[in-house]
Amino acid sequence: MDLEQKLAILTDAAKYDVSCASSGSSRPGVKGGVGNTAAGGICHSWTADGRCVSLLKLLYTNVCCYDCAYCVNRRSNDVPRASFTPDEVARLTIDFYRRNMIEGLFLSSAVAISPDRTMERLIRVAEILRQRERFNGYIHMKVIPGASAALVQRLGYLVDRASVNVEFATDRELSLLAPDKTRRGIEGNMLAIRDKKLELLPTLYHGAAPPAFVPAGQSTQMIVGAADGNDRDILGRAEALYQQMGMKRVYYSAYVPVNLPSSQQARTPLLREHRVYQADWLMRFYGFRAGEILGERPNLDLAVDPKIAWAVANYRLFPLDVNTAPKELLLRVPGLGPRSVERILAARRLARISYEALGKTGAVMRRARYFISAQGRRPYPLVDDPERVYRALAGQDKEAHQQLSFLEAV
Ligand code: SF4
Repeated sequence: MDLEQKLAILTDAAKYDVSCASSGSSRPGVKGGVGNTAAGGICHSWTADGRCVSLLKLLYTNVCCYDCAYCVNRRSNDVPRASFTPDEVARLTIDFYRRNMIEGLFLSSAVAISPDRTMERLIRVAEILRQRERFNGYIHMKVIPGASAALVQRLGYLVDRASVNVEFATDRELSLLAPDKTRRGIEGNMLAIRDKKLELLPTLYHGAAPPAFVPAGQSTQMIVGAADGNDRDILGRAEALYQQMGMKRVYYSAYVPVNLPSSQQARTPLLREHRVYQADWLMRFYGFRAGEILGERPNLDLAVDPKIAWAVANYRLFPLDVNTAPKELLLRVPGLGPRSVERILAARRLARISYEALGKTGAVMRRARYFISAQGRRPYPLVDDPERVYRALAGQDKEAHQQLSFLEAV
């Protein structure tokens, strides 16, 4: 098999990993337009300082000794198989880099022979790139679940980001759908990264810069809807990963049945994945706990975003006066984000804010107007009924919405 054939198989096989932001998008180029997302093998990610980088996205091999029920590369599936050598991956990366097509590499792999054997191959790729080719670009590599801690930590000195896929929120789903993987093996890999990062904390180096170890942090990926795990399981597990493993980012992937004769499970609606991402965002940037977001419900409401669902369920806390409410509560108002809240706080230090001025803070008044007041003024006293607010924001009460818009105009 020549390199081009391998590249075709192993870039296609890598597309199911969503740990980089542009994965899953497929938009062909148009006449007169520039660029497309259809070119397999290039994805985008963000570095620790917020830059967007394009990455060559590959699987090292799709030869797998595991048999995960949800995966196209499982050993019982009849698909064309291919493997690179470490030299080939390094050469491809450098060639693409020199042609200015990529700035880094995202390398994942199936489990060929054993986790440690595969891990050693990935480490070899990173060593060739860093030491022989003196490649200083971004490298994100997957840690093979169950690989030994020593190998994971060796990899950590060579890459910018490492990720271990947690796969499922519950142990039951993991043993059902990925019987060769164990929670212990997966979390052991995460702990190996977390503990080494703690050991290298700059404070312990008394002013000297510690050696770089996974400087962009670790991330993971969870599949949504492959079995009966609910959103409470998913968000609870994500919260634990952020708090206990120092996870930088949890990615979610709506379950897609791939060529599975035994699969009874339908494709997970992308809207559910989207709602889980929104809830994750609330936990990371808005101070929400997983349990608060869901209340008594096992799953997120698909009709409205989780912040609206929470605000309607806690309607007794509103309206908040933007001139006096604490920052933590303002952040919970639908339509207000961290930036608009900061602007409100800065503005109210100088003078009292009027309702009319709120739009200039970047607040999305279409949503926020149901939950705030300014100087005792509420433009829409008619909608004090949470049921009606919910229906208006879910687009189910057009009449109320029009009526409110009319009132806003007068
Ligand atoms: S370990 Fe499981 S998920 Fe990973 S490539 Fe093999 S079958 Fe697929």
